[in-house]
Amino acid sequence: MRKKIVAGNWKMNKNLQEGVALATELNEVLAADKPNCDVVICTPFIHLATVSGIINHEVIGLGAENCADKASGAYTGEVSAEMVKSTGAEYVILGHSERREYYNETPAILKEKVDLALANGLKVIFCIGESLAQREANEQNAVVKAELEGSVFHLTPEQFANIVIAYEPIWAIGTGKTATSDQAEEIHAYIRSIIAAQYGNEVAENTSILYGGSCKASNAPELFAKPDIDGGLIGGASLKAPDFKGIIDAWKA
Ligand code: PEP
Repeated sequence: MRKKIVAGNWKMNKNLQEGVALATELNEVLAADKPNCDVVICTPFIHLATVSGIINHEVIGLGAENCADKASGAYTGEVSAEMVKSTGAEYVILGHSERREYYNETPAILKEKVDLALANGLKVIFCIGESLAQREANEQNAVVKAELEGSVFHLTPEQFANIVIAYEPIWAIGTGKTATSDQAEEIHAYIRSIIAAQYGNEVAENTSILYGGSCKASNAPELFAKPDIDGGLIGGASLKAPDFKGIIDAWKA
């Protein structure tokens, strides 16, 4: 059975003290009321080691929002997958549309990052999704297929078992505009079908495919009720413990 996952992406929000406060609150809230799904928080690099010491890793997984495309060495300012892993983190988000757009991360660069993350024992939350112009041109299926082919379909089935897919239509990220549950289910089912074509049905059935894009407590139950939506990657609504908990609780509905 594939995992149900609610993952938070804090992005470039929260200084260290604020991040510690949020992680502490979330840890307490989830200790008091155990989630019905896996919960992951992906924080800025500087928070990882401290937050790792605060959370109960049985209940909350920890992830980075990025890692370097090089293993080690003279790459000033970069943070390697090995360094991320050494903090106690278990996950890394790769391929977020903000990284692709603002930092020119190409499929080839992301492929290097994916390989290094897996080689260092991290699970990858790999983001894919189309822009508004691509959706209006009905190119969304071709876009997500190319993104998978470009960066993760070279993996062996054993390696691919450590990939979580996050479908995030760019037009829905941080805009308040959510894909309808039917729109999301349609493309999630398509994504699962191309994973099945590449790796077979068993791997496809075991792959968690998360939805991301203005997901909140009010729309999460309807999205998560769809057969091919296995949870969410949450930006804005992961920055306050009650909002994030509201989405986690959608798995109890
Ligand atoms: C994201 O950027 O991963 C995301 C889903 O953001 P938001 O929930 O704020 O739309």
